[in-house]
Amino acid sequence: MPADCTNYSTCPLINNSGFISEPGHKDHYIKKYCRAGDNNWSKCKRYLMKRRWQFCPDFVLPDTPGSTDEILDKFEEEQ
Ligand code: SF4
Repeated sequence: MPADCTNYSTCPLINNSGFISEPGHKDHYIKKYCRAGDNNWSKCKRYLMKRRWQFCPDFVLPDTPGSTDEILDKFEEEQ
């Protein structure tokens, strides 16, 4: 069985009900990233943001486009 993401127990996408309003979308991300082995969860933008910047803005999803630098810029522009 593939390993779960190392953030699985704390990630809001998994643990906050309502983080993604559409249950089908959440299941899709879990299957494609969170529980799909390290080759896949290591590509998740939420995982990469946390590794790079030690936090991840709520608007970021596993397949949010852009680099971690670009996502941080977007977050700072919105503050
Ligand atoms: S793969 Fe991404 S969305 Fe899933 S638990 Fe890890 S950091 Fe969160």
